[in-house]
Amino acid sequence: MAVERTFSIIKPDATARNLTGAVNALIEKAGLRIVAQKRIRMTREHAETFYAVHKARPFFGELVDFMISGPVVVQVLEGEGAVLRYRDVMGATDPSKAAEGTIRKVHARSIGENSVHGSDAPETAAIEIAQFFSGNEIVG
Ligand code: ATP
Ligand code: MG
Repeated sequence: MAVERTFSIIKPDATARNLTGAVNALIEKAGLRIVAQKRIRMTREHAETFYAVHKARPFFGELVDFMISGPVVVQVLEGEGAVLRYRDVMGATDPSKAAEGTIRKVHARSIGENSVHGSDAPETAAIEIAQFFSGNEIVG
């Protein structure tokens, strides 16, 4: 499998509980390399753009409010099959359905406050990475 990159966000519920290092430990244990990382506060405009695909969903407003409620840590992860590998490490969107040992099973509070985001395909990963990082901020 080819080495690829995916985009990750450690969400406000996790940064609020000081879990950045705990989440990163699970990422690294899974063989993914953190090749870029910064702690930021998303603007409402950026959160709305980032989650535009969910605009028509009933939880859209709640999702945007949550993502701007505190700091997030945005990351680029690199490794073989990184997109799918990270989705495996994250676990199901709803933590009650997530597999044992996954980030969401271990740390998430609810389907909304679910601790992490990961891209769903290499194409969306490239778009999402470009929204937050310039090329010279990613060091593989
Ligand atoms: P993400 O895109 O954040 O990696 P995902 O791909 O597992 O998560 P999506 O279906 O893309 O899940 O939903 C995006 C985000 O919207 C979820 O991570 C969650 O925070 C929120 N969300 C999804 N479904 C619900 C819901 N039923 N109620 C509240 N929030 C939800
Ligand atoms: Mg998604």
